[in-house]
Amino acid sequence: MIYSVIVDLSASEVDRIFEYKGEGYTVGTRVLVDFANRRTEGFIVAAKETSDYDPAKIKDIIRPLEDFPAISKDLLELGEFMRKEYHLRWADVLRLFIPAEMRGSRVKALSKKQASLTSSDSLDVILNSLKPNATMQRDLVTFLYLNGATLTETLNNEFGNSALRALIDKGIVQTHEIVIRRTPYKDLKVAKTEKRDLLPAQQQAVNTVLGDRQGKYLLHGVTGSGKTEVYLTIIEQIVSEGKTCIMLVPEISLTPAMLSHLRERFGDKVALLHSGLSSGERYDEWLRLKNGEAQIAVGARSAVFAPLQNIGAIIIDEEHDQSYISDFNPRYNTAEVANFRSEQQGALLLLGSATPSLGSYYAARQGKLKLIEMPERINQKPLPNVEIVDMTLETRSGNKGIFSRLLKQQLAETIAKGNQAMLFLNRRGYSSFLMCTKCGYVAKCADCDVSLTVHRDDNMLKCHYCGKHYYMLDKCPNCHESSFRQGRIGTQQIVELLNSMFPDVKVLRMDADTTQTKESHGKILDSFAKGEAQILVGTQMIAKGHDFPKVTLVGILDGDQSLHHSDYLATERTFQLITQVAGRSGRNEDTGTVVLQTYTPTHYCLQLAAKQDYFSFYKREINLREASAFPPFSEIIRILYTGEKEKDCIDQLTEQYAELSNLKGKYSRDFYYMDKMRCPLKRAEKKYRFQILIKISCESVKEILPRIYSVCDGKKRSSVQISVERNPQNLS
Ligand code: ADP
Ligand code: ZN
Repeated sequence: MIYSVIVDLSASEVDRIFEYKGEGYTVGTRVLVDFANRRTEGFIVAAKETSDYDPAKIKDIIRPLEDFPAISKDLLELGEFMRKEYHLRWADVLRLFIPAEMRGSRVKALSKKQASLTSSDSLDVILNSLKPNATMQRDLVTFLYLNGATLTETLNNEFGNSALRALIDKGIVQTHEIVIRRTPYKDLKVAKTEKRDLLPAQQQAVNTVLGDRQGKYLLHGVTGSGKTEVYLTIIEQIVSEGKTCIMLVPEISLTPAMLSHLRERFGDKVALLHSGLSSGERYDEWLRLKNGEAQIAVGARSAVFAPLQNIGAIIIDEEHDQSYISDFNPRYNTAEVANFRSEQQGALLLLGSATPSLGSYYAARQGKLKLIEMPERINQKPLPNVEIVDMTLETRSGNKGIFSRLLKQQLAETIAKGNQAMLFLNRRGYSSFLMCTKCGYVAKCADCDVSLTVHRDDNMLKCHYCGKHYYMLDKCPNCHESSFRQGRIGTQQIVELLNSMFPDVKVLRMDADTTQTKESHGKILDSFAKGEAQILVGTQMIAKGHDFPKVTLVGILDGDQSLHHSDYLATERTFQLITQVAGRSGRNEDTGTVVLQTYTPTHYCLQLAAKQDYFSFYKREINLREASAFPPFSEIIRILYTGEKEKDCIDQLTEQYAELSNLKGKYSRDFYYMDKMRCPLKRAEKKYRFQILIKISCESVKEILPRIYSVCDGKKRSSVQISVERNPQNLS
């Protein structure tokens, strides 16, 4: 047979099919081949009887890398779709479908030896064949008789190595290899909660979704409306019918609490796919899904590629979350991939959120998704009461601090009552920049066009773009004075301020700095849930999904922060963030309060977020998008040019811009806009950044996009990297 092989090298020059000979391979198998005189791993993507090449020149496949096809036919088909849709290289796509550690054989199944008795005689008969004084051997035999097959390491620990060896020599005991699955979070305490009946709104949502098993749904349920229970009930039903499910959550929601719910409900049927696992655990969980040992894949965006067959449901929780869009190579949109897989498998697709993305809600209003609304919190618990505080008035009345008088008073009350508070500020570190008051010098990263953030815990200046650390300045390198002004307050400084305001209150902080290790994220949340601290300060990490019954106060310290970006998505993001953060308050007995501090108190986004009025916000925002032809009424294409040589970038961009202008001339009606410019972030990680922004009509994308791709493929300078992004989430 002739096999079409994609070599596992991520380079455009080798992004095509190479033919090899062999017999008996299944398509999807990973193989070792001789490529350019080197042994290289590859994927078989097709098989055929004959080749157009001279058969004598076609090399043999050296050997398979696993004794099973790592990639199913269905996933290969998905790969084909993604390659075209996102203009990706084969190798980059195929790598998404297997655990990274499988490549280069960096991980293997873990196997161990087990021992068992060879005969099924009664215990007396076996013991009679042993000497009366061979106590260890007799105890071991008795143990095996009572407990059945046992790991040899356990037996050796218990009875010593020689007893086991002697029994094996006598033929009384035999050993065999078994595969051990490394279970992530093995020691997780599984919450025992009594099973609750669904409330009418939840039952209705479940019925609607299960009513059409191939439907596509958008579940819009306010924070605390019980969406999780809806998802779990649907999964339970689908799995009981012998099908499999994928449930996607933002990475941040994969907390021990969430896992313990899933374990409780589904036990070993769940497999977890996420970056916090060890490579062995990740590989084993993947295998359990592939072998059908587990039927439910739970994970962040990459779990959409779970190696499942016969999928009955794909669920995307918090569907508006930005983490579902991969914005580096390989770029893809998880919801689109899920959509393809659900159609391919005849599965239902369910997107859920308290603040659906405008695009999804628009699609639902257009009838492309079936809209299910859950407008009330469980047991009619009122939504929190949101107080907007005008910070300009605070300043005018002499309060120049970051805490408004109302927030201080509310904090004191919450603490006195023994309740908990969460304070949200999307800026980590101590303060956002360091500036010389004499000459105006601002400390910047040497590699990025980014001012450095002051960090107090290790007294460093850090670049939040590339992560580089610099020593703290004691003198201005420009004028040698030592008088500095610091920029806006970050989470570290908030904690410091709280400690001096409330010396007896324990404060926790959760941001990228305090969650660098695998478990730290869960530990902080756990500790807060147990009531070990009364205040939790955090960045957007604390906005999502968490359910802390004792939280009755949420403070949003800088409600404007994301509002005034030039980006067309800024208002939508701000609305989502505020609604989500506010939704953490008052989830139990006491009604919650939210204090929203802002310098633009009358902005419709903040006003409507305060009322949690999604629909009014949607109407207002969608009208604006339509009037200005922004997505979903157009597609934005960004071509990004980056490179260390500024001139090369400019030359490359200029050439391609000319070609694109020709294209624009041909399709003038469909090109709403095109321009070239420096990126707002002019330089990052030593590379200069330039972009071409294009806005085209949705109808013309299928025709125009491939032409744009082919212009970009005609790149002439190896020092310049070009990437094309569709509807980028971030225009910096
Ligand atoms: P959402 O994900 O919509 O924000 P959750 O799923 O976290 O909401 O549910 C909110 C709260 O209501 C949780 O504490 C949950 O345990 C509780 N809850 C959910 N369903 C029920 C039910 N049927 N009966 C009683 N409590 C419920
Ligand atoms: Zn940097």
